[in-house]
Amino acid sequence: MALLVQKYGGTSVANIEHIEHVAQRIINTKNEGYDVVVVVSAMGGETDRLIRLAEDLHDNPHPRELAALLATGEQVSVALLCMALHKHGFKARSYTGWQAGIITDDSFKKARIQKVQTETISEALNEGNIVVVAGFQGVDSNGNITTLGRGGSDTTAVALAAALNAHECQIYTDVEGVFTADPRIVSEAKLLKHITFEEMLELASLGAKVLQIRAVEFAGKFQIPLRVASTFSDCPGTLVTYEEKIKGKVMEQPKVSGIAFNRNEARLTLLGVPDRLGIAGIILGPVSEANVDVDMIIQNDSADGTIDFTFTVNREDFNKANEILKKLATELDARDVVTDNKIAKISLVGVGMRSHPGIATKMFTTLGNEGIGIKMISTSEIKISVVIDEKYTELGVRALHAAFRLEQGPTEEFDPEG
Ligand code: ADP
Ligand code: ASP
Ligand code: MG
Repeated sequence: MALLVQKYGGTSVANIEHIEHVAQRIINTKNEGYDVVVVVSAMGGETDRLIRLAEDLHDNPHPRELAALLATGEQVSVALLCMALHKHGFKARSYTGWQAGIITDDSFKKARIQKVQTETISEALNEGNIVVVAGFQGVDSNGNITTLGRGGSDTTAVALAAALNAHECQIYTDVEGVFTADPRIVSEAKLLKHITFEEMLELASLGAKVLQIRAVEFAGKFQIPLRVASTFSDCPGTLVTYEEKIKGKVMEQPKVSGIAFNRNEARLTLLGVPDRLGIAGIILGPVSEANVDVDMIIQNDSADGTIDFTFTVNREDFNKANEILKKLATELDARDVVTDNKIAKISLVGVGMRSHPGIATKMFTTLGNEGIGIKMISTSEIKISVVIDEKYTELGVRALHAAFRLEQGPTEEFDPEG
C-alpha cells in the first residue's frame, strides 16, 4: 500500500477543534487507501511558552534540560491526535522521537538526524495503525532527548518520508502553500503551484519560514516528493520539483520567483585594522571558533594601509560576536568597532535570474525610489540580497513585489500534474 507522510504544524493543532479537523483529514486519506504516518508540532504557541518558562527560571538553561522541556510540547499533541482518531474507530499509535527511532547527534538545540530506525513504525503500520510521530525531536547515542531547531517538525517529516520511502511528504500549514512572498506581509502575494528545489532552498535559508531549511536539504538529498498545502482548504498547494524539464516541457522560468526577508540579523564592523596578509582569516577565526555563523562579509581597503571589515551574524549571536570583536580591536590595533543590530535582509530569488543581469539594478532603483538605503549587497546565481534598516522591511518587500509584478505570478508554462 502506498504511504503518505503528513505533517501538521502548530496552528493546525492549536486547539481541540483543530485537532479533530486534522483527525478527519487523516481519516479521509486513510479511507483513500493510503498508509499514513503523521508528524505533528506542539500546539500553537506552546514551544514559545515553554521557552519563556525556562528563561524565567534561568538566564542560560542547560541545553539538555531545555530539549527535554521543549520535547513535551509535541508529546501532548501526538497523544491528543491519536485519541481523536480512536474516537472515530481508527487504530492509531503515538510515538515520541526516540520511540520512533529518530537518532540524532548530541547538539541538543539544533540536532541533526543521523538515521531513522524504522522497525517500530513499520510494525505499527503493518498492524493497521495510523502512526503519529512527535516532530522536532530525537535521541542521541547516549539516550538523551534532543531537539531539531525551530521549525524542526518539517525535518522530522521529510526524514521519515525518506526512511519509509513514502509516495509523498505533505507539509500542512496555515497558508495554502509557498507564495511569491510571505502572504501575511504582502496581501497580493501569489501562490506558486510549483517551485524548484534550488529556489525553495534559497527562500528557506533567506528567511521564509514556511519550511525549515534542513527539511529542504534533506528532501533534495533523497529527492523526496515534497508538497506544502493548507490544513484548512483542499487546494493542492505547492509542489517542490527537482527537474527543470518534465514530460518534454521546458519550464518557462520567471526571472524572480519569490522574495524572502530576515529580520533576525545584526551587522558588525571592525574599522581601521592595519592590513596584513590573511587578515580576514585572523578576524573570522575566533568568531567561527565561538560557533557563530557568519552570513555576509565585506572587506574594504583604504589608501592608508588599513581595512574595514564588516560581517553579519544571527541576532542571537550578536553579543558574543561583539565581545570577540572588541577584544580583536585591541589585539590588532584597530580604530573602532561599530555595530547595528536593527537591520533586515531582503532577498530576491529565482532560477530565471541567471540570464537576466538587469534585475539587481531594478532592485536597487526600486528601493532607492522608496527612500530605502542599502547597507550591504550579496549576490549568487539565483538570488540577490540587500541589508537595509529593519524599519523599512515591509515597505521594501511590498515595493519589490510590485516592481517585479509578482502579483501576476510566474508564467505557468509547466504543469507537473498535466
Ligand atoms: P507551521 O506552524 O505550520 O509549521 P510556520 O509558521 O512555521 O507554520 O510556517 C508558515 C508561515 O510561513 C506562514 O504563516 C507565513 O506567514 C510564513 N511564510 C513566510 N514566507 C512565506 C512564503 N513565501 N510562502 C508561504 N508562507 C510564508
Ligand atoms: N514546535 C517547534 C517550534 O515551534 C517545532 C515545529 O513546530 O516545527 O519550532
Ligand atoms: Mg514551521
